[in-house]
Amino acid sequence: MSTKYDVVVIGGGPAGYVCAIRAAQLGLSVACIERYRNPEGKAVLGGTCLNVGCIPSKTLLDSSQKYAEVATGLERHGIAVSGVKLDVPAMLARKDAIVKQLTGGIAALFKANGVTPLFGTGKLLAGRKVEFTDAEGAPQVLEADHVVLATGSQPIDIPVAPVDDKLIVNSTGALTIDKVPKRLGIIGAGVIGLELGSVWKRLGAEVVLLEALDVFLSIMDQQIAREARKVLVAQGLDIRMGCRVTGTTPGRSKVEVTYLESDGTERKETFDKLIVCVGRRPNTRDLLAPDSGVNLDERGLVFVDDSCATNAPGVWAVGDIVRGPMLAHKGSEEGVMVAERIAGQKTQMNYAVIPNVIYTHPEVAAVGLTEEQLKQSGESYKVGMFPFAANARALAADAGGGLVKLLVHADTDRVLGCHVIGPSAAELVQQAAIAMEFGTSAEDLGMMVFAHPTFSEALHEAALAVNGHAIHVANRRPRKK
Ligand code: FAD
Ligand code: NAD
Repeated sequence: MSTKYDVVVIGGGPAGYVCAIRAAQLGLSVACIERYRNPEGKAVLGGTCLNVGCIPSKTLLDSSQKYAEVATGLERHGIAVSGVKLDVPAMLARKDAIVKQLTGGIAALFKANGVTPLFGTGKLLAGRKVEFTDAEGAPQVLEADHVVLATGSQPIDIPVAPVDDKLIVNSTGALTIDKVPKRLGIIGAGVIGLELGSVWKRLGAEVVLLEALDVFLSIMDQQIAREARKVLVAQGLDIRMGCRVTGTTPGRSKVEVTYLESDGTERKETFDKLIVCVGRRPNTRDLLAPDSGVNLDERGLVFVDDSCATNAPGVWAVGDIVRGPMLAHKGSEEGVMVAERIAGQKTQMNYAVIPNVIYTHPEVAAVGLTEEQLKQSGESYKVGMFPFAANARALAADAGGGLVKLLVHADTDRVLGCHVIGPSAAELVQQAAIAMEFGTSAEDLGMMVFAHPTFSEALHEAALAVNGHAIHVANRRPRKK
């Protein structure tokens, strides 16, 4: 095994493995170090996203949505269903099989592209050297022209609710719960809380979310966030805002949670399971030798510039360990940018156009600026909205709730942001992202031909509504702010 590579990537998640593959495509010799072992003890690639994040959570979201529809949602379509049975272990087995298929796929892609996987732990030393320690604990020093740090993140622990993997779990443990808890508590009503809360609510649990902030989904456009809260509460999620958890007392089969409401009132709740999902922290501990020359920022993230270069020459960092949203696709695009820059190209990523999606039902998705951000910036903007209640495809699909909201520059008419709650919100927002990437105006979008009947027509109509031309709703006078 060679110990000298053009590129050594530490971390085989979506940021690291994509970087490794792209660098190999560009003719560079690449090794990718990964330390994760799956519950069967097998070393696998794919990182948080494939093993304990995006993919297993979406698999459970899809399975649970099918169950909820069959169990309670088909009568109005004239379909009577009886004898529906839930088999949680089978649901988990399907999830595990998909994870296995996808992680195995990355191994095959490494082989096809000539990337060397090294299973063990990596640590950056001075002078672009990497200490690689394999599973048996044998250390070896690798040399590289370029090192890419891509070690990702892990759930934040809070002392008042220590994870015991029995009654109190984090997002990883929450993906392996093998029977529906009667009462499920969740600390943190963020993305994971809402997605996993939805899974277990659909499967029959009573779900209570305890959120510290008073503002729901504070980083989302607040009009969409308010709509999302209404919909999720109507689905039965008990979302309690302004709650500060002060302690947890695990018993034999239940855990008692004590928390303070905003006005200082102390409350207690008892749950069969408690999920702690209050954010994630970067995996930078033990990654850097003291003389590695790489600086962390004030939040413990690796400090990088716009092209993901650290302050140490030839050392780059991508994904969850650097600034920006902790999203798989953001890390992957950073991985591509870094690989191409290492190969001498001038690739730059557009951080203003990164879509994000909450995979509840309906989905909540966004790209670009929110109305709150526009107000704060003082930028003059116009708004176009269209409700799915007036979209034929949505009504046919029994998905007539929610809306598309498009924010455009008041003078140039260019799309600045798009916020959607409703059917296929993720796909609609991606269309807006493409429009933004190419500097499209609302007028351009309004002039395009959209297939009928589609959910996408709601985006078309929102673009028309910006300038008061929507056809299938009564137009308000264009709002210029
Ligand atoms: P990771 O995926 O965390 O990969 C880093 C890898 O580095 C890990 O495999 C780790 O084992 C390895 N590593 C760490 N230290 C070392 C070391 N010293 N040596 C060797 N290897 C090391 N994002 C989305 O965009 N969409 C979603 O739907 C979504 N859903 C999510 C659901 C859940 C439940 C969770 C927890 C996260 C979700 N995310 C989602 C976030 C997404 O998973 C992360 O943003 C993404 O995985 C980050 O990619 P990464 O490559 O930076 O890090
Ligand atoms: P999050 O930041 O989305 O939500 C955490 C929530 O917990 C916040 O609302 C926060 O105010 C609250 N909180 C923090 N401390 C608290 C406390 N002590 N008590 C009560 N509430 C508290 O984080 P997450 O849900 O843990 O997810 C982590 C990250 O993973 C996300 O930020 C996102 O980047 C990524 N992720 C993405 C997706 C997706 O793209 N669909 C899905 C899951 C996770």
